[in-house]
Amino acid sequence: MMDTAAHVLVFPWPRQGHINPILHFATALVDAGLQVSFLHTERNLRRLAQAPLLGLRLLSIPDGLPEDQPCSFLDLMESMCTTGSAAYRALLLSLLSAVDAPVTCVVADGTMPFAFDIAEELGIPALAFAPHSVCSYLALLSMPKLLELGEAAFPADDPVRGVPGMEGFLRRRDLPRGLSFAEKGDGDPLVLKLAEVTARSCKARALIINTAASMEGPALAHIASCACEVFAVGPLHARSTIAESASLWREDDGCMAWLDGHEDRSVVYVSLGSLAVITHEQFTEFLSGLAATGYAFLWVLRPGMVQMTSSKLLGETVEAVGGGRGRVVEWAPQRDVLRHRAVGCFLTHAGWNSTLECAVEGVPMVCWPFFADQQTNSRFVDAVWKTGLDMKDVCDRGVVEKTVREVMISDEIKEAAQAMAQQLRLNIAEAGSSSFQFERLVRFIGELNI
Ligand code: UDP
Repeated sequence: MMDTAAHVLVFPWPRQGHINPILHFATALVDAGLQVSFLHTERNLRRLAQAPLLGLRLLSIPDGLPEDQPCSFLDLMESMCTTGSAAYRALLLSLLSAVDAPVTCVVADGTMPFAFDIAEELGIPALAFAPHSVCSYLALLSMPKLLELGEAAFPADDPVRGVPGMEGFLRRRDLPRGLSFAEKGDGDPLVLKLAEVTARSCKARALIINTAASMEGPALAHIASCACEVFAVGPLHARSTIAESASLWREDDGCMAWLDGHEDRSVVYVSLGSLAVITHEQFTEFLSGLAATGYAFLWVLRPGMVQMTSSKLLGETVEAVGGGRGRVVEWAPQRDVLRHRAVGCFLTHAGWNSTLECAVEGVPMVCWPFFADQQTNSRFVDAVWKTGLDMKDVCDRGVVEKTVREVMISDEIKEAAQAMAQQLRLNIAEAGSSSFQFERLVRFIGELNI
């Protein structure tokens, strides 16, 4: 425990995949003896009404968007930069003048440069939190140069030379991308925005990354040369003492009993995360491929996740085509599922949290990346860590069947996944690299207000 007057305001980008890791981070700070306030948007705080406080003081600001309407990343970004940032400034001013414990440091998601700028302008040191892999971070930092050189355009299999340390295995198709593949190479607006905010977050006083040296040592060495201070403290969920969930959807625990009824390593767990939306054709290809493997499968299908198809119809179709071997949930207790002995592989979009959660449990992966960092993560899973296979850009029942079968039976992939899990356990153990970095970070935060 630390005897310090440090009071950290932790501010996640208001999406599920960003809230989860930074919440684990915030509670680790509480465990280390720091006072922590956690800033949600009002909308998310209402959805998390059941969430426990975990020793955090919960605060909220409006996101400025209409209620109950889906919005794109860029819409949310614009709204957070206007309505959100004005409310954030007012909140910081009030927290600064608080007599009991004024805020001494802000840790904000790297997606929101305004959060660093406003804090620093008000005299509060600001650190950036990166919920993504370092490999995708480096790739994003390189995007403007790659676009200029024409190295980001088709043909997709051409090697990319301009990303430090990834020469030899990174292809154009493995670069971060938006919702449409930038065939002309003129840059997708989402990727350009992500590249811009990533470059800005590198300039913060410190960069806190949810990764571990054993997974991304060489990439971490490269990022250290572009940022002031780097702290690789992950996988945060595995260090965390939180048993409760911060899910924005209600978890369907019934699937755990369903898993109990299956043999060891006999079930395929399928989830494409909290944001991906697929077409009905893609759903059909996945379903037919999964059914053809003969394995049982547990599939997360959020309401609205399959375009123009109701949840009821999805459930009925899975039941009919899956021959009774498929189980659908709207939202799963994912970490518990991945830890269950019955799960043999994870068919995932390779979002960074899902990748880390899977890696910690030593479960082999089949990747079907969707957008942003997922393209780069899935390449690392296949070509670098060898803990799974990447079927990016192909959505075909035959490929799904073949890839899932291969991953389910491969001893080589299983051994690589288990070796990685072992390494990660060492990273987060008491004398491990991530624990050491976390302690160094706590001292760094404590010294900011001396
Ligand atoms: N998740 C969950 N239940 C589900 C699906 C996902 O709890 O049914 C959690 C998952 O454990 C992870 C997060 O949602 O922590 C998804 O984050 P990720 O970075 O993998 O993907 P994103 O949603 O950002 O695309």
